[in-house]
Amino acid sequence: MNSILTTRMWALLSPALLACLVACGSSTDPGGDDGGVVFSYSPSGSQMIIEAGTSRDFAVAATGGGALTAEWKLNGLTVSQTATYRYTAGSVGVDLLQVAASSGGRSGAFEWTVTVSEDVTTLPPAVPQVRVTHGTLPAEARVSWNFVGSSTYPIDSYLVACSFDGPLSVANWDQALQLGAVAHTGNIGYSALFQTDDGMIPGATAWFGVRARDELGQLSPLPQSVQHVLSYAWDLTGTVRDDFGRPMSNVLVKFLVGGRVLNDLTAPDGTFGYGPFSSVDSVQVQATATVGDYYRYSSPHLKAASGSVYDVVLIGMIPVDPACDGTDGDFLQYLRFMTMTSPLSEQTKLHKWREYPVAVHIPDFVRSPDGLDFAAASREALDLWNSDSGLQLFEEVASPGAADIIFNFDFDEPALNGQAVLVSPQGVLNGAVTPELVRVDINSVLPAAGSSGYPGVKGVALHELGHTLGLYAHSSGCSDYRLMDIGAGSSAFSDGRTHPVHQDEMNAVRCIRYLNQAVDLSRYDSDGRGAGSPR
Ligand SMILES: [Zn+2]
Repeated sequence: MNSILTTRMWALLSPALLACLVACGSSTDPGGDDGGVVFSYSPSGSQMIIEAGTSRDFAVAATGGGALTAEWKLNGLTVSQTATYRYTAGSVGVDLLQVAASSGGRSGAFEWTVTVSEDVTTLPPAVPQVRVTHGTLPAEARVSWNFVGSSTYPIDSYLVACSFDGPLSVANWDQALQLGAVAHTGNIGYSALFQTDDGMIPGATAWFGVRARDELGQLSPLPQSVQHVLSYAWDLTGTVRDDFGRPMSNVLVKFLVGGRVLNDLTAPDGTFGYGPFSSVDSVQVQATATVGDYYRYSSPHLKAASGSVYDVVLIGMIPVDPACDGTDGDFLQYLRFMTMTSPLSEQTKLHKWREYPVAVHIPDFVRSPDGLDFAAASREALDLWNSDSGLQLFEEVASPGAADIIFNFDFDEPALNGQAVLVSPQGVLNGAVTPELVRVDINSVLPAAGSSGYPGVKGVALHELGHTLGLYAHSSGCSDYRLMDIGAGSSAFSDGRTHPVHQDEMNAVRCIRYLNQAVDLSRYDSDGRGAGSPR
């Protein structure tokens, strides 16, 4: 502020010097041998607009030559012979005012074109191109504008103010928060950054205005102010877990914000955090394990509005049978193939049960006349998924109303041993939506293919439960028996098999169990450690 005031006072005190700087070059002084005489003219500009009926002094001065004589002509007629001439604007039109002066044997001349107008303001014009953008830090606002080029009196500085109560105008300018003055330097563009220390309120709506101030202290009008919502601070925290649900420490978590990259390492309890970010930032979280082989995860661009907690699950680079179709020996590809989130599928986001254990209702059903207990076989299938995974995937409930999955044995569709049908929301069980109610149909006339009887029913139930656990696709091409091959359920317990769920299938089911709901599996990548690399 001090420098602004100094500049302004200098300008107010030195009109003659200013006039000379501008006007001397256009006088008729002979160059070089001027005998030390310097003429100056005021006002310095040769074009002006004056309101009809008002007066204005015009003057000529000389230094270094002693006595001065002057002759003023208005439209060619002599009107004065003094150093200062008071011009009064008459009728609307254009007047030509000329002065010829001499001093110390030298002569000088100058002329002004005066446009007489009915209504003239000498206020500076409104400041153009005022705009407000967010700064890097929360609540920061950058106000920018363009210079005022044509003004009756030279521009001295620009004043910036803001209001939190509504649009700014000339009328309420004095009540606004005055943010300071920026000196007019002759540059085309100006900007100033304001922070909480200047009175910026995080998250508030503010109206900013800029007015030009001339050397007389006159302020430009303010036809409009700029509305702007100030940003606010937010932190981002979360926990990184592995595909067993265990917290992972020393995971490198990068926060990508615009061009910046900020780093954190997860604590022993798997937690990470960073902040504050600005609410206008979009932050991408990238998690890379520093111990063990895991696929790197890169989040979508997160905004403050979407919450400040973001949890990440890292998937291990688990060995997988490379013979299985769509797998290429890479567990992530196998997982995406089986969950129908591969690039070939319509969606890449995995939907699964909202919570585990999944509640299953199995009605009693014994077939007559052979006495085959379908309910008991199905319960054994359910128990096998729990015991072989070591996880509480399913629990049986007595009431169908409390169930997520309901078994149905009233099913005799030809050529189908069984099926898993998405009842609610109605659709296909393929991971596109979060399942709420699934019906598992077990054919009570078949099973025909593979083995029949009790082991066949148990195997079909095991296969259909595999679908409900997120193995939405059928595998093919694998180098040995797979429960989730098409039609493979009824032969699950053939050939002496007692634990027909393959390790690859179990790994996938466990992974799905611990992955975040609706996670986009295309956001995992091998970070340069592709399939076939050491694990
Ligand atoms: Zn199937």
